[in-house]
Amino acid sequence: MDLGDANIRALRVLGEGSFGRVFLCVERNGPKERKVCVKRIIMRNPKNQLRLIKEEIYIISQLRHPHIVQFIRSFMHSGTVNIVMEYAPNGTIRDVIHTVNQSNGRLGERRLLHYLSDMILGLEYLHIRHVIHRDIKPENMLLDANDRVKYADFGISNVHVPASQQPWQVIGTPLYMAPEIMCGAKCDFKSDIWSLGLVLYELCLGRNPFQSLLRPTDPFEQVRCVVKVMAQPRLDCQVIRRRYKPIWARLCELMVVYKPEQRICLPDLICIDPCITQMIYSRYFNYDY
Ligand code: ATP
Ligand code: MG
Repeated sequence: MDLGDANIRALRVLGEGSFGRVFLCVERNGPKERKVCVKRIIMRNPKNQLRLIKEEIYIISQLRHPHIVQFIRSFMHSGTVNIVMEYAPNGTIRDVIHTVNQSNGRLGERRLLHYLSDMILGLEYLHIRHVIHRDIKPENMLLDANDRVKYADFGISNVHVPASQQPWQVIGTPLYMAPEIMCGAKCDFKSDIWSLGLVLYELCLGRNPFQSLLRPTDPFEQVRCVVKVMAQPRLDCQVIRRRYKPIWARLCELMVVYKPEQRICLPDLICIDPCITQMIYSRYFNYDY
């Protein structure tokens, strides 16, 4: 399929969303070829959308970190904006959860620690730059060839988010959405911590704790049910305690806390347990990174 750039050849579709499609492509650069990923956004309302998309692209073009999918360039073609980025070949954290579930297994704590450290490091990089991801969920955490996590899909992230644009108007699933966002409050760095806590919970147990609440098909009814359950101070993680060392349940309990001001912040998360601190610091001082 012709994406409108002579140096890019689409191989197959990797994913599909409300915005358009994500393609696996080969990019030619002189005699060299490499696999890249192209996210093609169809602009339904170019007048309003283009400025926002350009702002988004500017933000992601400024990011460079081992745990963030690398932006390469972008181009426009017949009503579409195409974002060329690094290709992460090993699927997503959703696939990891799926595989663990299918084998009735349990993720090893070493692997859990690796994933969590990657996620914390990527998030720390974003937050230091005043970027709130706002759509952290297993599908948006890709895995590279070395099984390292990379955040993708900054479709709704923004710098200094204006209060008038709330992501709950845009996102499909409320399963990872912080309660303050559902209640229409301003999105905060702590909202990403909530979502991260839920991803960790799901990596431990193979399911999202709010999953069963989504049975009603009416989206407003869904949101109402989830808010009802979340109106408890924190999540009960006893089930995790039975299967893993106490730190994993404790981490989830500190992250999935209803009130953002009582929710753990990223710097405290790094210091909460020596094994996490040690892992994070060994990465800081790894100059190959
Ligand atoms: P939106 O949430 O903005 O509607 P989306 O979630 O459908 O969009 P993405 O998350 O960017 O869009 O991509 C959809 C899927 O495509 C991902 O879950 C992943 O499976 C795949 N994908 C996206 N980017 C890459 C990439 N760089 N490398 C490999 N696979 C990717
Ligand atoms: Mg996505």
